[in-house]
Amino acid sequence: MTSFDYDLFVIGAGSGGLAASKRAATFGAKVAIAEGDLVGGTCVIRGCVPKKLMVYASHFSHFPQEAAGYGWEIPAGKLDWSKLRDAIQTEVLRLNKLHISFLEKSNVELISGFAKFVDAHTVAVGDRQFTAERILIAVGGEAAKPNLAGMEYAITSKEMFLLPQFPQRFAVIGGGYIGTEFAGIMRGLGAEVTQIIRDHSILKGFDNDVRTNVQEGMVSHGINFHIGVDSESLTIAKHENDLTISFNDGDGNAQQINVDTVLAATGRKPNLAPLSLEQAGIEVVNGAIAVKEDSCTNQPHIYAIGDCTNRVNLTPVAIAEGRAFADTVYGHTPRFISHTNIPSAVFSQPEAATVGLSEEKARDLYGDRVKVYKTKFRPMFYSLAGGEAKTMMKLIVVGEEERVLGLQMVGKDAAEIIQGMSLVVTMGGCKKDLDNTMAMHPTAAEEFMTMR
Ligand code: FAD
Repeated sequence: MTSFDYDLFVIGAGSGGLAASKRAATFGAKVAIAEGDLVGGTCVIRGCVPKKLMVYASHFSHFPQEAAGYGWEIPAGKLDWSKLRDAIQTEVLRLNKLHISFLEKSNVELISGFAKFVDAHTVAVGDRQFTAERILIAVGGEAAKPNLAGMEYAITSKEMFLLPQFPQRFAVIGGGYIGTEFAGIMRGLGAEVTQIIRDHSILKGFDNDVRTNVQEGMVSHGINFHIGVDSESLTIAKHENDLTISFNDGDGNAQQINVDTVLAATGRKPNLAPLSLEQAGIEVVNGAIAVKEDSCTNQPHIYAIGDCTNRVNLTPVAIAEGRAFADTVYGHTPRFISHTNIPSAVFSQPEAATVGLSEEKARDLYGDRVKVYKTKFRPMFYSLAGGEAKTMMKLIVVGEEERVLGLQMVGKDAAEIIQGMSLVVTMGGCKKDLDNTMAMHPTAAEEFMTMR
């Protein structure tokens, strides 16, 4: 019988790899995990966590004005960017250490360095080699910049958290959730912000009402948009003190804007290049590791989870895939996770959240059996705080029994509300279940119980 150094070797200590390695170790497996950067991965080090802290920071700029309506006189504040940036990094490093301690407590051996395949059972990290009965690839993804002139002057989301100076004039290229979130953050922190998008509205793939309501809210916060931009025409030129972005807008007119920093939020791709996957004969399709429902690759002892498989690229999904793998292979309780009805949020300003189908997708699938309940109102908070902020909520149902297919929301606390409400969709609940649930007053969420 062949003997291996480890039962399981995990490549990548991000959301998925950490969850899988610890769970496998609880079943008695001898586990090692290789990490080339800081333990924690994209979410903890340069994604969800530092981003959400920046979202919180960006909300404070509204407080003096909003508080004035409630009788408070609060002088307008001033952002100390370096203080915010450093505080976020301190928190990120605290979490990094915490995750290392969790690995130690779980008896998972941490091996520092980037790993690559030597053969189907052997991995090299630097000049050391390790063999394992099974290997789990959890290497995540990285930002992908388009191949356009001057793109090297644009930064990616990773550098957003480490900017030496706060950019007073800031542009985002791309209309996806990451670009949209950073546009809101930087505007809230006081920058002049322009978002340049190829489509006619941001957040392609989301419900159309979500897209337009978020974009309208952003415009009312003073964000400038260039829509329908010919992305092939876009170039960036560097000068001594700033950058010029040139492009043809949706009407075919040549445009130029000068900014201090450009963020290219133009998509992400699996982080596969350094892995030498060909040494292990692992199949890659459209730039992502091809896996079956149980996250197994074409090699029966090699698995892949998280963003490197490009299924649904969110932290809770990577974690769930990792745990399902460990439970199936080491816990002997086979289970798969469902990739449908995954709730997701956009921490834009206004915030958006969704679960289940958009109205457009529901109509594609179920035609005129679909019914939509919709409401738009000014949340009570703003009755004294002033401003035009509105909340939009939408309930998408199908058939006589009005089974809930999707919930969409834009506005204050959308993510918190939709996370709770997502249970209705996963449980196959109907409109009558919401009608039979007593409203909680006065809240915004109660509108989902009282829609007519
Ligand atoms: P990762 O967390 O990326 O971990 C992969 C790890 O593998 C990394 O630490 C990397 O250094 C390491 N690695 C790579 N190659 C090697 C190698 N060869 N050897 C050793 N180590 C290697 N998701 C949400 O759910 N909510 C959010 O609000 C959210 N916000 C985001 C904001 C931003 C700006 C970004 C970029 C992403 C955000 N995401 C969010 C997505 C989320 O971060 C990812 O879906 C999640 O981190 C994927 O986990 P993973 O385990 O697949 O990979």
